Amino acid sequence: MSALILNGNKIAAEIRSELAAEVKALTAAGQRPGLAVILAGHNPASEIYVRGKVQSCEELDIFSEKHTPLDTVTTGELLRLVDDLNHRDDIDGILVQLPLPPQVDAKKVLMAVHLAKDVDGFHPMNVGFLSTQRPGLVPCTPAGVIEILNRSKIPIAGREAVVVGRSDIVGKPVAMLLTNANATVTICHSKTHDLPGVCRRADILVAAIGRAGMVTRDFVKPGATVLDVGINKVTDRAEFDRFFKGNEKREETFASKGSTLVGDVHPEVAEVAGAITPVPGGVGPLTIAMLMVNTVKAARMRRGTLAPV
Ligand code: NAP
Repeated sequence: MSALILNGNKIAAEIRSELAAEVKALTAAGQRPGLAVILAGHNPASEIYVRGKVQSCEELDIFSEKHTPLDTVTTGELLRLVDDLNHRDDIDGILVQLPLPPQVDAKKVLMAVHLAKDVDGFHPMNVGFLSTQRPGLVPCTPAGVIEILNRSKIPIAGREAVVVGRSDIVGKPVAMLLTNANATVTICHSKTHDLPGVCRRADILVAAIGRAGMVTRDFVKPGATVLDVGINKVTDRAEFDRFFKGNEKREETFASKGSTLVGDVHPEVAEVAGAITPVPGGVGPLTIAMLMVNTVKAARMRRGTLAPV
């Protein structure tokens, strides 16, 4: 049996088309949503992510602006920039791209973002709103995981969910969202005993680890739904062969770029799972789509057309 592939590009496109109508209506009412992105210093991966976010705003006609302070920026300078953006009425969302340069106190800068404009959902108040099921802004990647399940009509309530990873940005909020949706949730991490055994209990298995192909077929109950959040770059030929030997399309990518992406889930899991997200093209596209959703949500909450934050 081969798993149903949960196509994140298709789901993200659905979300964007629904959102386009909402942006149009808000703009017509003089309330065009706006996103400010802060990209401090030069980090090639961050530059690519930010380009994708700005491009997505342009496609949806959401106002966006990019601030690019130098590598030498201080915590104080970033705090002043955030404060300025907090006070601007044309800016609904503020995204501080991580990582920040090492001399900057990143926690202090993230805390300074007004919680009503915290479109990443990282502010402790938004974390608290999520945990107490109050309206607020929810982190984008975790929200994307739930969208994939809901839009693929995969039931959550009453099912066993296992989340591998307990980071503040993925693992913990995914677990909280699954709990709020009435799954029975287990969170695993690097100290978990018998990880494959715990994972095999899962009807819904979420991998957010950051280790290439760590989740192999022996972690997965036949028929389970597997959501692979991991994004890992494979550059080594032996590692490539371990995951993709005989896969012509991947061979082409690897030959032309010298690398390819693999998730935290080994591709062999597609032979056991009932449904699975691919990498690339699974959870990743949802992250940017949910950032757009959060920007529009923040715009509506701030203007009182949705419950206030
Ligand atoms: P992170 O902060 O490094 O957290 C990794 C988690 O995995 C930690 O809780 C860690 O446990 C756990 N872990 C590490 N090794 C383990 C092992 N051998 N067995 C069990 N658990 C283990 O990473 P993250 O920020 O959550 O990101 C996870 C992955 O998702 C990365 O590949 C990242 O690139 C990707 N990601 C993708 C998107 C997207 O848009 N698709 C967005 C964000 C992140 P401890 O807590 O015990 O250390």
